[in-house]
Amino acid sequence: MMRIPFLDLKAQYASIKDEVLPAIHNVLDNTAYVLGKPVAEFEAVFAREHGVQFCYGLSSGTDGNHIVLWALGLKAGDEVIMPANTFIATAWGATLCGATPVFVDCEADSYNIDPKKVEAKITPKTKAIVAVHLYGQPADMDPLLEIAKKHKIALVEDCAQSHLAEYKGKRTGGLAVASSFSFYPGKNLGAYGEGGAAATNDAALARTFKMIRDHGAEKKYYHEMYGHNYRMEGIQGAVLGVKMRHLAAWTEARRKNAALYNQALKGIPGVVTPVEMPYAKHVYHLYVIRAPRRDALAKSLEENGIATGLHYPIPLHMQEAFKHLGYKQGDFPVTEKAAGEILSLPMFPELTAEQIQYVAEKVRAFYA
Ligand SMILES: *Cc1c(COP(=O)(O)O)cnc(C)c1O
Repeated sequence: MMRIPFLDLKAQYASIKDEVLPAIHNVLDNTAYVLGKPVAEFEAVFAREHGVQFCYGLSSGTDGNHIVLWALGLKAGDEVIMPANTFIATAWGATLCGATPVFVDCEADSYNIDPKKVEAKITPKTKAIVAVHLYGQPADMDPLLEIAKKHKIALVEDCAQSHLAEYKGKRTGGLAVASSFSFYPGKNLGAYGEGGAAATNDAALARTFKMIRDHGAEKKYYHEMYGHNYRMEGIQGAVLGVKMRHLAAWTEARRKNAALYNQALKGIPGVVTPVEMPYAKHVYHLYVIRAPRRDALAKSLEENGIATGLHYPIPLHMQEAFKHLGYKQGDFPVTEKAAGEILSLPMFPELTAEQIQYVAEKVRAFYA
């Protein structure tokens, strides 16, 4: 029996050990523990690669979600529109500002926020829309940009899963007013600890990000506004700087692996492989299929040594944490149906063709 992990961070570390250890040692030798040169260098490369002017390294992607809405002035009583189908940190961006998340259903094929269902949720309290590029596939930004412009509300991007993904030939992260990224170890670009970023093309907003990140001060001990400590650590900046040299190749490897899966899973009755939308370059943070008798399939794969995941088992509107918002089962039928059918198969750049064939074989055998 083959053992196939959901994610293999060890394999990636082994492949860059020779580059990454000297970079970490350099931080230690220079005692650049927080921010510093390696972080600044990483920020510059990351911004350039995402076609965005300003980028700031942060302590996590959740902090990125928060800082973006905080800098835009979100406060108690405001509403923020976002998909129900996302990781809960998207919503923390709003709640940490005291604002209320307002959920929207997703599209059945992309699993991203359905732009056709956004306008009905806009009220005089709506101040922002968060587009999440879930699983690595950009949300349909043009209709969202149009809605945001028409109603004079800010559109921001949650790019935690979409490093180097493209919408109509443009990288995510610079498509709207501002964006946040996560460098949690399991993300397409992962630090060796926590990490995140906020990016924008707006110079004034960029300055606000920079200040909030460091206690509301540009000059040490001169605090112009409220802030927090959302600074990135030097070691994380150094690791991410090394990893940036490989990210394009790793992204292509994910795309190749997705294509191999699509081919190998063809013709299995009821199994739906991911749809790459015509406007999208999908970076397959996750490879998510729909499968009949999903739980039994997951169990059977586990018995065959294959790890799988659920992203996500409970949509945000059904989470206990948001009970007070008054949503109920049936509010978002497309998201709810997906939650019962989706299954994430192992996906990482170092996955081999042999491993993919084995997974596909076991899926096929389950339905035979
Ligand atoms: C991972 C993730 C976040 C949060 O990032 P952290 O770095 O783990 O705080 C936010 N939004 C989405 C969609 C994510 O997948």
